[in-house]
Amino acid sequence: MLPTRRNDGGPPMQSAEVITSWKPTPSTHAIRLRKPESFRFRATQFTFLGLPTSEGPAWRPMSLATSPTREHLEYAVRVSTSAFKQAFSELRPGDSAWVRGPFGEFFLNEQRPAVLIAGGIGITPLKGMAEFAADRGLGIPVRLLYSSRSEAEIAYRDELETLARQNPRFRIQLTVTGMASGAWDGETGRISSRMVKALVADLENPMYYVCGTPQFVEDQLGLLARMGVSEADLDWEGFRGY
Ligand SMILES: Cc1cc2nc3c(=O)[nH]c(=O)nc-3n(C[C@H](O)[C@H](O)[C@H](O)COP(=O)(O)OP(=O)(O)OC[C@H]3O[C@@H](n4cnc5c(N)ncnc54)[C@H](O)[C@@H]3O)c2cc1C
Repeated sequence: MLPTRRNDGGPPMQSAEVITSWKPTPSTHAIRLRKPESFRFRATQFTFLGLPTSEGPAWRPMSLATSPTREHLEYAVRVSTSAFKQAFSELRPGDSAWVRGPFGEFFLNEQRPAVLIAGGIGITPLKGMAEFAADRGLGIPVRLLYSSRSEAEIAYRDELETLARQNPRFRIQLTVTGMASGAWDGETGRISSRMVKALVADLENPMYYVCGTPQFVEDQLGLLARMGVSEADLDWEGFRGY
């Protein structure tokens, strides 16, 4: 059963089998798909993901959540009551999904120190970048500033900490916005210029990558502009639809 979508001459729709389906946090869901043989992408572009849903075939733009150096494709979403998200959450090993892509210009510059700024599920492509830098042994420093609602909602925490052990040039700074400081032994509150400065103080000519909801992206672009970061030194992906 193939979801219909007009073929406009771009990348073809390819069917891909679900390998794993799990919940990284209480409000998110993730899947791994068998990578179609001819599928190539950069760390980390997006694809359209097609699923049969209770309301018929549906497609959403979805960032790839893993590096091209890894065996499978991966996606993660914030769950909602939409038919698409319900269908996504119900995927089980052996089911089929459809992938069309890759698309976009949001990928890692392998030559420049990287500052990754993630809000919530916006971690997906940034995790792929961090994996890519670790797997390829890139010589650049990679710093991640990752804001989540609560400790329980920090998606991929174990994977990110494993990457930090694998790659001595990768450093993580977490902050949580919805917990009292006594309940969490780390940074609290929204991303601030103080947090960014502390993370980048020793970096020369870094490139900034921002990803999250459109509101999150707008807030971070405003913050970085006020800090004097020029537009040429930043790249962003806004998850339209939130
Ligand atoms: C490049 C890109 C990468 C993305 N990557 C991720 C990801 O990794 N994880 C993730 O959870 N989400 C991602 N998103 C957002 C995702 O495509 C969905 O829009 C979002 O998850 C909401 O889906 P829903 O089914 O819950 O919303 P719905 O309840 O179906 O939609 C809410 C409202 O938004 C509208 N809408 C839905 N999607 C879009 C859209 N893409 N553009 C404009 N309007 C829209 C609907 O028509 C509806 O009015 C990405 C978006 C973009 C553009």
